Amino acid sequence: MTRSEELFEQAKKCIPGGVNSPVRAFGSVGMTPRFIRRSKGDRIYDVDGNEYIDYIGSWGPMILGHGHPYVLESVERAVRDGLSFGAASSVEVDMAELICSLVPSVEMVRMVNSGTEAVMSAIRVARGYTERNKIIKFAGCYHGHSDALLVNAGSGLMTQGIPGSAGVPEGCTVDTLTAAYNDPDSVRALFAANPDQIAAVIVEPVGANMGVVLPEPGFLEFLRDICTEHGSLLIFDEVITGFRLALDGAQGYYGVTPDLTTYGKIIGGGMPVGAYGGRKDVMSLVAPIGSVYQAGTLSGNPVAMAAGYAQLKVLKDTPSFYEELNQKADRFFTSLDEILTDLGIEHCLNHVGSLGCVFFTDKQVRDYESAQTSNTDHYRTYFKQMLEQGIYLAPSQFEAMFLSASHTDEDLERTLDVVRKIVL
Ligand SMILES: *Cc1c(COP(=O)(O)O)cnc(C)c1O
Repeated sequence: MTRSEELFEQAKKCIPGGVNSPVRAFGSVGMTPRFIRRSKGDRIYDVDGNEYIDYIGSWGPMILGHGHPYVLESVERAVRDGLSFGAASSVEVDMAELICSLVPSVEMVRMVNSGTEAVMSAIRVARGYTERNKIIKFAGCYHGHSDALLVNAGSGLMTQGIPGSAGVPEGCTVDTLTAAYNDPDSVRALFAANPDQIAAVIVEPVGANMGVVLPEPGFLEFLRDICTEHGSLLIFDEVITGFRLALDGAQGYYGVTPDLTTYGKIIGGGMPVGAYGGRKDVMSLVAPIGSVYQAGTLSGNPVAMAAGYAQLKVLKDTPSFYEELNQKADRFFTSLDEILTDLGIEHCLNHVGSLGCVFFTDKQVRDYESAQTSNTDHYRTYFKQMLEQGIYLAPSQFEAMFLSASHTDEDLERTLDVVRKIVL
């Protein structure tokens, strides 16, 4: 038995499924999870002394790579001043000012502790502002695990076969309407059937929880227009895409302006942080100045803020950071696509910026339905062979591959060499 296997046996006795978040259990690839001990740059190291080139990056946060010295120093400095005050501190102001300066649509922002919390709060604000109850989401988009949003919610729920989730009363989801990604007609139909009742449309501007699904030209613009026309708010869930595609996120990358935006992952630099923000008139509804209540004992935590702020500073202050990362990723994904084609492996490779996904299907993946045509047995085989050769991919077909600034050309080439030997 490896140390990871031993730990997993132990863990299963005292933690449900042995893990603190379902996808980590490696359930959909039928393997035992590796227990990770430390990380540095583009590498992670498990408790058995194995080394991997990491393409998960903690599911997005580690865009600079693991253990960036400036981020670590900022955290160490913050720790020495205290772990939490439960009171206002200056780094929260720095953080808010920085976010507002980088993202024009965000005029005010509130910090929370996770992406789930950010989305849940943004929905509440949208409902408070519009005085309407219904929201439209898209099949295959994930917006965290709060009750109202656990409907047709992508990745974790796709390969684990959890139907929505037990424990969510119908009352919590009756106001959650589901449209099809990249399908304007399905959105028009919901607006038509629910006149003056739609508080908000929430969307991942790049679908990144059903694999990676790009918005087709005009789709995000269409959402902007139909929301404006009906007095509904457009919420971009940029928990993955925020500070990932560009400093101003997917909204900057695609040039479409939402009313509210939710953040998580990168914004915390690896610490548990989320945020929601947007139009000043809408955000002014949030307590203590407005009637929408939202609070958090550890929100704006000084250590978490130090990590997030340091990471955003590096992203902002590194000249052509996104051009270089996105070009590097573009070359990598293009090569990966060519290699799989040369091997005669049926696949669809979707990618944008440093996000990509290989779907094992002959279909063009443009929504939840086409994503589901993927051959998950092929993914399992691919995943296993890659892992055994030291390449750490997401243990599920329906997750993104995350590249970071720390991925070296040698490591990317080494990864492609492993792919060249894949046998499905
Ligand atoms: C990860 C994710 C969330 C949830 O964030 P947590 O920090 O895991 O609660 C919400 N929306 C999107 C798009 C995500 O990728």
